[in-house]
Amino acid sequence: MTSHSHLPASLARLGEFGLIQEIQRRFGRTDRSVVKGIGDDTAIVNINAKTSLLLTTDLLAEDIHFDRQIHTCEQIGYRAAVANLSDIAAMGGTPLYALVALAIPPGYSPRDICNVYAGLMQAFKHAGVSLLGGDTSAAMHGLIISITLIGRAQPNAALRRDRARIGDHLYVTGTLGDARAGLQILKTCKSLKKQKRLRKDERFLVQRHLRPTPRIALGLHLAERQRATAALDISDGLSGDVAHLCQQSKVGALIMANAIPLSPALQAYAAKSRQDARALALSGGEDFELIFTSPRSSRDELARVARRLAVKITCVGEIKPPSFGIQLKHPDGSYRKVIKTSYDHFSA
Ligand code: ADP
Ligand code: MG
Repeated sequence: MTSHSHLPASLARLGEFGLIQEIQRRFGRTDRSVVKGIGDDTAIVNINAKTSLLLTTDLLAEDIHFDRQIHTCEQIGYRAAVANLSDIAAMGGTPLYALVALAIPPGYSPRDICNVYAGLMQAFKHAGVSLLGGDTSAAMHGLIISITLIGRAQPNAALRRDRARIGDHLYVTGTLGDARAGLQILKTCKSLKKQKRLRKDERFLVQRHLRPTPRIALGLHLAERQRATAALDISDGLSGDVAHLCQQSKVGALIMANAIPLSPALQAYAAKSRQDARALALSGGEDFELIFTSPRSSRDELARVARRLAVKITCVGEIKPPSFGIQLKHPDGSYRKVIKTSYDHFSA
């Protein structure tokens, strides 16, 4: 038997990201065709002088990522597709082909599974993705949907996490925290009847959770015009994902709290539910918006692109030297270290 020395006894101690680091360190060696293996939103493999392949996989597990009491099968499929599409968007690539693996527990009918696919294919068709295959198994407990998505990018143009430079501006797309608030709202009204009675801004937040938008067109533009130095999508919350970007790029970052884009609906909901809207935006995962860094000189061009593609783009801070760490400047002028509040599957 192989001995795996110096590993903590429990996954809770090691944490999700610690585990991935250990896997990478022990088993992640690759050959020269691999431009980037473990560590980014997708892997990058050079096929020929004209094409790089982007490869990613993301799975959704019942009762971890979705709850049958509050999500329909179609909604589950749609979100599973977007989680993968968003990773290709974050690399500035074009999504192309999908493989879908299912482990199905008792309690799901053929119609339920076709509804999962209807949701999946809605998101995939819109993005021009073809379903090429997959795998099907029974499961003891809980549906698992695992998707592998393949995309393409121009060689050396993919938007990696590890190329941010000191002095770059830090941008985010859309508004943040909406998806977390939408999920909180859904959890309080488990019947469809109750969902129909929601106020307009609550319905907006619920839709942001159920039907997130992968920012594919913007990612493509940033990559093809080389307007971003680094990018990733927000799956773990702004604070956690800026930390991933900083760790990979070996830099620090300043985030201006009052610049974080918040929707009016989130602000109204936060006030009503006595929560801090900015805290929701900093820790709320699965907005599937993009974080990217760009030289100051690109500012005007980015404003034009935002208008043309109808995507809100907001500068929320700046890349700093590593010694700066990650700090949040509050509206009162004080600085605080950003505590990573993103979701860890094992420590949570
Ligand atoms: P994302 O949130 O963008 O999907 P993750 O946090 O899931 O990214 O993963 C971070 C990186 O670690 C990615 O490059 C991913 O491919 C890699 N990774 C995650 N889990 C594993 C695993 N079990 N084995 C190998 N690599 C993994
Ligand atoms: Mg990602």
